[in-house]
Amino acid sequence: MILPGATLGMLGGGQLGRMFTIAARTMGYHVMVLDPDPLSPAGQFADTHVCADYQDAQALAQMAQTCAAITTEFENVPADTLRNLAAHCPVKPSAEAVEIAQNRVAEKSWLRQHGFATAPFAVISTAADLTDACASVGFPAVLKVSRFGYDGKGQARVADLAQAQAAFASMGGEVCVLEKMLNLECELSVVLGRNEAGGIALYPVSENIHEAGILDISIVPARVSAALATQARDAAMAIAQQLDYCGVMAVEFFVVDGDQLVVNEIAPRPHNSGHYTLDACLSSQFEMQVRALCNLPLGATAQHTPAVMVNLLGDIWGDSQPNWAALLRYPQAKLHLYGKQSARPGRKMGHYTCLDNTLETALALAKQIRAAL
Ligand code: ADP
Ligand code: MG
Repeated sequence: MILPGATLGMLGGGQLGRMFTIAARTMGYHVMVLDPDPLSPAGQFADTHVCADYQDAQALAQMAQTCAAITTEFENVPADTLRNLAAHCPVKPSAEAVEIAQNRVAEKSWLRQHGFATAPFAVISTAADLTDACASVGFPAVLKVSRFGYDGKGQARVADLAQAQAAFASMGGEVCVLEKMLNLECELSVVLGRNEAGGIALYPVSENIHEAGILDISIVPARVSAALATQARDAAMAIAQQLDYCGVMAVEFFVVDGDQLVVNEIAPRPHNSGHYTLDACLSSQFEMQVRALCNLPLGATAQHTPAVMVNLLGDIWGDSQPNWAALLRYPQAKLHLYGKQSARPGRKMGHYTCLDNTLETALALAKQIRAAL
């Protein structure tokens, strides 16, 4: 076990790194954050912010020398960075697991090989591949870049071959996947922590509503049958086991055709849909990340209050701050802002979580606050 007093390394300084840093420092660890942005959200809370690129040899040497263990919040951290650091100290999750999750082709192929249902898809390396994919995938479809897409970026919805060709041409020659557009009944996710001994702690299932490809609202527990929730948690657990995953991860699911589960993607880190755990669970997903990284016993995932989390995107900033007073007057609403200097449309600036005795009243309050902000 790595105990409080040790220094933990965090690759990436975004909001996920910030909330990890707060959890780690609360427990008495020191935190060293690596992020090239001098104003990074996590750097503001870290003991040390190494302001450098993820492949900077000197910065990585400093991390390796100082940190008792290293984790990541940035899905696109170069796998070689994780591999090289792992020669010096424990690195969780492993380069191998991150390499699968950060590449849609590798991820979907891995899922299919291991017997997990995915949307029908085809790998598109050249424009000619699209012609073949028409038959196997069909339209409407979604063309997604294999690497570096997030929050719906690097995706295009296409209705026919001509649109698919135009979209592929606009992706700058990147390898893509063409995925069948599914008629979604709803979207679910499961966050879990897994330690070296193979112990697993599963959080309740979150029901996620997206707007324009970006998570908007998470409702927990998800309003689905107990059987479907169990199925989602079992599938997430099986994926973590078969990846021999160590750390915190999330699995996103689509629900289609009357309660059929399809795996959408895997995140090798805490997840936006797990932010409710900060306020509604005994151990948050960030405390869980500390515990898994340090090989401590895993935390308790029990949810004590129904919760609705709402993302705060830069769109609502305009020239001034949103009307925070309209939110802060409700003691059942918990505000989390990420310390980002500039608000841009689509940029995740913060979130709030409404907690109440019933999901219905929590959801009603969440909507009321949103309208007043
Ligand atoms: P990202 O990495 O940007 O989160 P996702 O693949 O999760 O990319 O897509 C973002 C969202 O777009 C999903 O949560 C879902 O709402 C919608 N979406 C993506 N793929 C499909 C699909 N095949 N069918 C229907 N909706 C989809
Ligand atoms: Mg997603």
